[in-house]
Amino acid sequence: MQLSKFSYYSDFVAYPLVLIALAAININHITWVSGAEWLGAGMAGLVLWSLMEYVLHRIALHRMPYLSPMHGLHHAAPLAFIGTPTWLSVSILGIAILGPAWARFGFNVADGLTFGVMLGYWWYGVVHHVIHHRANQSSPAYFNTLRAWHMRHHFSPRGGNFGVTTSVWDHIFGTAIRVRDKAAVS
Ligand SMILES: [Zn+2]
Ligand SMILES: [Zn+2]
Repeated sequence: MQLSKFSYYSDFVAYPLVLIALAAININHITWVSGAEWLGAGMAGLVLWSLMEYVLHRIALHRMPYLSPMHGLHHAAPLAFIGTPTWLSVSILGIAILGPAWARFGFNVADGLTFGVMLGYWWYGVVHHVIHHRANQSSPAYFNTLRAWHMRHHFSPRGGNFGVTTSVWDHIFGTAIRVRDKAAVS
């Protein structure tokens, strides 16, 4: 949805604070085993986020009523402050990830998993911001590659390239737009 400039940028500050809180909350009870378990859950959370990023973008933002018109605003004006308010995304991730994982695997694993998913979400925000808002400034090769990849999502007549921070899921699910696909159309 359309956000104020303050609301748009608050993700970049609020998420690190939430991440610090998630990491700190368990630190007094940490052992080698629970620490390793937490770290493993965190890595699983990062992978889970990358899949969520792909599925949410492909299905929710491009197919579902109400959400796809809102995402259309971003496609029409990539520099506009379109996004999800921090309070809403934190709540959704808390309810969808922390809650069920806590009930199923206990707090330590749920905390690590949520940390990984939220870290992934924050990184997605950073990457997508740099892709669009720093297009005229020189960025590290990592961002330039992802920018070219994401521009094909925005401008190719073929739907695809739904992953923003990684192209892995597009390659797995066959939605990667090959460069020659684009050349063949234009
Ligand atoms: Zn899109
Ligand atoms: Zn975009």
